[in-house]
Amino acid sequence: MRQPALDLVIAALEMIREGSDRAPRASRAALARLGTGDPVAFSLVAASDLSEGMSAKGRRLQARDKIASLSAIRERVRACTKCSHLARSRTQTVFGVGNPDADLMFIGEAPGVDEDQQGEPFVGRAGQLLTRIIKAMNFAREDVYIANILKCRPDTPAGSFGNRPPTPTEMQTCRPYLVEQIDIIQPRVLVALGAVAVEGLLGTRATMRDLRGRWHTYNSIPLMITYHPAYLLRNQAPSEKRKVWEDMLQVLERLQQPISERQRNYFL
Ligand code: SF4
Repeated sequence: MRQPALDLVIAALEMIREGSDRAPRASRAALARLGTGDPVAFSLVAASDLSEGMSAKGRRLQARDKIASLSAIRERVRACTKCSHLARSRTQTVFGVGNPDADLMFIGEAPGVDEDQQGEPFVGRAGQLLTRIIKAMNFAREDVYIANILKCRPDTPAGSFGNRPPTPTEMQTCRPYLVEQIDIIQPRVLVALGAVAVEGLLGTRATMRDLRGRWHTYNSIPLMITYHPAYLLRNQAPSEKRKVWEDMLQVLERLQQPISERQRNYFL
């Protein structure tokens, strides 16, 4: 009884090792029962790991499809001229970046001058702060997905400096691309950065004081709303930074990520 079950466990683990880039996993309960030599535990581990292996394989295939689907949208965005004024003024479109199979997706408002130049969202000073926040959460930028409501930089008068927020019409026009991105990526948690991103995504206008720090939903996906990193650059008060970090702790909890004591006490 014990040897065939053990053979099944080994076969399952080998299948996972070959078919997935994730380490084989078993529940704590099953491992504890294995430690007691309980023969039933062998089949429990095999069953849980087999299903883990199957789903990992499924995820991998799905990820490949996601890459293809996102590429197709990226091409449509690249050629998009729905906002003729923005199509004329942009250096390039800024589609989105990161893991197409991400559990966590950040949504900002629109590319700024740095993003317009580099073709990647959140690469300017605010973007660098977002990257620091992501790292403090124990993720790499490549683990999450980052996109904006608008894929083109809102134009500014010639000779002027800085960026302007997108208009409601511009956001409405571009929003379908973001909706498609979210539908494909299917993250477990969304984070909207700032009131403009919230307006673009949900069509809701409210103050950040009313919106941030609690869970909302977008198409059944849990949505956390927090301050845009640019706000933290303008307002360096430790209390504001702490608020953003507390929102991110809620996100980590929702994703069932382990949180260290150091992370609990972290200050951005
Ligand atoms: S902002 Fe969006 S909808 Fe408007 S031109 Fe750019 S890609 Fe197209």
